[in-house]
Amino acid sequence: MIDGGGSPTAVSAAERRRGSVADYLDPERAPEAPPSRAAMSAATRELHDAIDRNAPWLHPERRTIQRDLGDSREVVAWQEAKAAFVLRGDAAWSELPHLYARYGTPGTAALIAALRALEVARCAIVTDSGMQAVALVADVLLQPGTHAIAMRQVYNKTRAFFEASARRVGARLTLVDDGDHAALAAALVPETRLVFAETFTNPLTRAQDIPALVALVHRVPGAKLVIDSTIATPWAMRTPLVTRGVDVVVGSLTKALGGEDAQLGGYLATDQPELANQVMDLVAMRGGILDDERAQRIAGGLPRAAERHARRCATAAHVAAFLARHPRVERVFHPSLPDHPDADVIARDYLRTGSLLAFRARELDEPGHRALADAIVATGVPRFALSFDGLVTKVNHHRTVSEYFTPPELVARLGIDRLIRLGIGLEEPDDLIACLNWALHRAAGR
Ligand code: PLP
Repeated sequence: MIDGGGSPTAVSAAERRRGSVADYLDPERAPEAPPSRAAMSAATRELHDAIDRNAPWLHPERRTIQRDLGDSREVVAWQEAKAAFVLRGDAAWSELPHLYARYGTPGTAALIAALRALEVARCAIVTDSGMQAVALVADVLLQPGTHAIAMRQVYNKTRAFFEASARRVGARLTLVDDGDHAALAAALVPETRLVFAETFTNPLTRAQDIPALVALVHRVPGAKLVIDSTIATPWAMRTPLVTRGVDVVVGSLTKALGGEDAQLGGYLATDQPELANQVMDLVAMRGGILDDERAQRIAGGLPRAAERHARRCATAAHVAAFLARHPRVERVFHPSLPDHPDADVIARDYLRTGSLLAFRARELDEPGHRALADAIVATGVPRFALSFDGLVTKVNHHRTVSEYFTPPELVARLGIDRLIRLGIGLEEPDDLIACLNWALHRAAGR
């Protein structure tokens, strides 16, 4: 379509036109009028005619990392709007129109608008994975001489990143137990700039008491409370976290908000434009933004993802209740259960109880739990996999997938020994219960 071939008549016409282009090639002079595209070669004309047909993109068929901006006026307007966002602190400059894909695209703009509405936040930034969002916030807040606190049950990659970052920049990191507010109060120091917690936690499904954390953390001027709500999701919050005083919400779009195990993605939301713009400046320098196509797909799928998440949560509660009364089960961890350590907070603040649960079987040691996980997948329905909130139910043996190299004494001390983790999918609850009941009775040497 865009090569320079053509019929003999077209060639001679092209030759005539090329003659007029020749009028413009003398470095000593140029005609009054600009050169006409019609007078140019077939290759040039066909390329640009095709591009015009797919305006404003710079490819004949697809959206591109940058648009045809027309002329410099739009860039001047963009620069001025960016200055207003940064200087006046109106919002995050992640919302500016598409100039270049590392700064934002129509897809990221649509997703940012949806996430801002969901989180009821003034600013949002979308990233190429959940970990990218976590790392960006840490990179902005962890400066030399500062102090950070992370709850002990945070995702192990998050903890590892904080440890490495603190070492690299000369900051200090303290770990405190989830729910131990006295320990958190004792750990806070004037240099604390970051306090990071997840809700719900994985695999023990603790629920954070958000107002209590906000009150404690904000005793230290400049300290920011960052909540990773990947597992609970914004749909689970009776009151959006940012409006309750959480400084930054981070989340993975790879899980419930994408909902299909189809693409990686992450985001952060905040009501603090200065902080958001610091993050956005980092994204502009080093990348990490979500690409246009994925952003578009996730934004378009959000209503269906919300419904599916509600269904997974309901199924998880059903499965958790079954396991809790099962004679071969020692303990079940799920926010829907009445004996959950945070039951009061959950009843007060959480509308959904999550799709992730864990359980410990009676009289089975660690290898026995690994065999039990393998027996569950032998039914052909739950699949052995790491993540959660996709289409199918996932099962794994927690020690094997997440704590393989952790000393057994530490795993036991943290209370995460002998655990089967389930990430509930879209199957019928009774089908899942049938698989679990069979495995509990017939497998693992019983
Ligand atoms: N936060 C939590 C709670 C997670 O479980 C995960 C991944 O498992 C992440 C963040 C990172 O998300 P992603 O896999 O999109 O990088």
